[in-house]
Amino acid sequence: MIRLHNTLTRTVEDFKPLKDGVVTMYVCGPTVYDDPHIGHARSAFIFEILRRYLEFTGHQVRFVRNVTDVDDKIIDRARRELEIRNTKYDIRDLGKVCNEVAQRYLKSYHEMMDRLGIRRPDLEPKATEHVIPDMTDSIAKLLIAGVAYEAGGDVYFSVRKCEGYGRLSNRTVDELQAGARVEPGEHPDPTPQVGAGKRDPLDFALWKAAKPGEPSWRSPWGDGRPGWHIECSTMSTKYLGDAIDLHGGGVDLVFPHHENEIAQAQAVGKPFARCWVHNGLLTVSGEKMSKSLGNYITASTVLEAYPHPDYLKLFFLKTHYRSPIDYSRERMDEAKKNWHEFSRFFQHCDQRQVASYAGAEKLPEVTAAQRGFDEAMDDDLNTPKALSVLFDLVNLGDRLLASGQLNQIRPIYDVLLRCGTVVGLFLQGMAEESPSTLQRLQALIAQRDAARQAKDFAAADAIRKTLRDEGIVLSDTENGTFWRRAG
Ligand SMILES: [Zn+2]
Repeated sequence: MIRLHNTLTRTVEDFKPLKDGVVTMYVCGPTVYDDPHIGHARSAFIFEILRRYLEFTGHQVRFVRNVTDVDDKIIDRARRELEIRNTKYDIRDLGKVCNEVAQRYLKSYHEMMDRLGIRRPDLEPKATEHVIPDMTDSIAKLLIAGVAYEAGGDVYFSVRKCEGYGRLSNRTVDELQAGARVEPGEHPDPTPQVGAGKRDPLDFALWKAAKPGEPSWRSPWGDGRPGWHIECSTMSTKYLGDAIDLHGGGVDLVFPHHENEIAQAQAVGKPFARCWVHNGLLTVSGEKMSKSLGNYITASTVLEAYPHPDYLKLFFLKTHYRSPIDYSRERMDEAKKNWHEFSRFFQHCDQRQVASYAGAEKLPEVTAAQRGFDEAMDDDLNTPKALSVLFDLVNLGDRLLASGQLNQIRPIYDVLLRCGTVVGLFLQGMAEESPSTLQRLQALIAQRDAARQAKDFAAADAIRKTLRDEGIVLSDTENGTFWRRAG
């Protein structure tokens, strides 16, 4: 049974979905105003691993992740771009450029995911497509429930009317209020200060009155746009139901974002999420990443220097998902070295045609390794421990190869592939290929998957043949299709 750390209870507990065999999971998605950095890549990868492991243990996962495509950061970016083009720009162009910014960086986010072999969620709802009627309906219900108030075209949520507020962040309302001023978090609350309509500094905006040129929608409270928090609780309940199994995001979202999501949902009697999973943050050489410090590292920069996506994935997997992780070239080089241990082993196996030694008996060490891997993953996704099991297994395989005990190797090969794919490794081949080759291979494999789904087996076989002629072999497994260069 898988056990997960629940931020709400601050313990590692047995994970039991509401409905046997089906897991509903909502993760806060990107605000698309810039190219994704490696912290975004880490978070996306962690929830891909959680999803993969849940699937691997027999669950059907329904995964929704939103896209915040209207937000102060997007508007600021659009304003700066307009200023660069023309200092006396027409304010009416702002909405259009906001759209361009959001589309450009959503594309960039998707490209990063594709390069890393991270699958898209089942649903990826956009904020701008759910303002009317979904978010305005949610806000109206909060007003009717008496926990929200209108103030000069804005609508605020009244935090002190909400019993249990602070439960997720484990602080009282007064402690949070003090903390709120010092630590604005990733998405600073851009609402006006007290006096401009907000009655309490802890209250947060559900609806923001439109400023000139900003993207806006009609509402009973005047033209404006929704706040960020109402977006997620609305999308989560709309697509996954009033009670869901898992809600995830970076630990920087615990307060205020997730605390506010809970308040919004529970104020209208919805139980909301049962288990809250938060990933630790990423620093660069010990410092928080920021543009002003000049240490903002995009995922695509890393993938240029370290082209095989498994290098970055291994670097992530070597740290537990809840711990902070520090990025450095040394640690990436180390991950690259680790990966080549796997790569060399697979290549040697291919050269010695290990795959043809079927029916070999599993050594007790191999059975123990498989169990050790599963136990580590069950224990709140302890990937560092799970990886150490795989490294031991590769060492054993190397020793057997060296002593020519080829019929003992096939089970090791199989277990490594099985476990590796569970944690998202080995999906993009085992040789260091150029980024363009990797991209092409991924595109062809996706095309072949689509052809197979459409039962167009002729087209699927043609793609397999094209690749075979280039010396690339495809293997279909329950964890997806992976490829390798023929030995
Ligand atoms: Zn969210």
